[in-house]
Amino acid sequence: MIRIEGLTKSYGNALALRGVSFEVPRGQVVGFLGPNGAGKSTTMKILSGFVTPTSGTAHINGIDVIGDSVVSRRLIGYLPENNPLYEEMMVRDYLEFAADVRGVPRIRRKERIRSAVERCGLGSVLGKDIQQLSKGYRQRVGIAQAILHEPDLLILDEPTSGLDPNQIVEIRNLIRDLGREKTVLLSTHILSEVQSTCSRVLIISDGRVVADDSPEQLSTAQ
Ligand code: ADP
Ligand code: ADP
Repeated sequence: MIRIEGLTKSYGNALALRGVSFEVPRGQVVGFLGPNGAGKSTTMKILSGFVTPTSGTAHINGIDVIGDSVVSRRLIGYLPENNPLYEEMMVRDYLEFAADVRGVPRIRRKERIRSAVERCGLGSVLGKDIQQLSKGYRQRVGIAQAILHEPDLLILDEPTSGLDPNQIVEIRNLIRDLGREKTVLLSTHILSEVQSTCSRVLIISDGRVVADDSPEQLSTAQ
């Protein structure tokens, strides 16, 4: 489902990726684990077409997504790290807008929004402005916008960062639930996150994938 090969990315003199290659077959929930600055976001931004690598290839379902965020966005649901939302918009209106941007046909829009709202537990905040929401609800809105067009693949960049413990449990449960029917790549710098959510872990350090293992193997190795 995801195939990336030999990705490098330099920002000026800084080398963010030094040759990242991996494949993710359909159905896996994969944790992308590494410290801050390891290159997780850069890899995910390349997959979502927002950042162009210096070299290497990236395919989703066999389709080249490099430099093409429009094509990529149709194929994946993407929750960016800073979860940019329109602060002054009501949740309901924002989801309408996002469905439009994601190319959901008008006739399907109501049903898709209803379904995403239900899955993400947003029923009680539809009439609120996004700026009134807690961080946990903001992340749910971010995940809801990512699944509106029913992509098979979700790319979630640090989905629980900055949340309190209760919110973390809720978002992890939601991701586990989505992982039953979708392929998921989620980044984190927290080992327990991949242990509670993922079937496979890729460890990235200093722009390189340094391990590819099951969460169980990983915890016994430590
Ligand atoms: P992670 O998501 O693992 O924290 P990133 O992919 O965000 O890592 O960053 C990898 C490296 O690239 C870091 O050293 C970071 O400072 C650098 N970097 C990321 N984005 C930019 C940018 N727009 N300009 C310059 N350097 C960047
Ligand atoms: P672009 O490649 O120009 O960002 P997109 O199709 O990705 O085009 O986005 C179209 C619109 O959606 C833009 O107005 C952009 O600001 C907005 N947008 C992008 N990302 C998000 C997001 N995560 N949530 C809400 N709106 C977004």
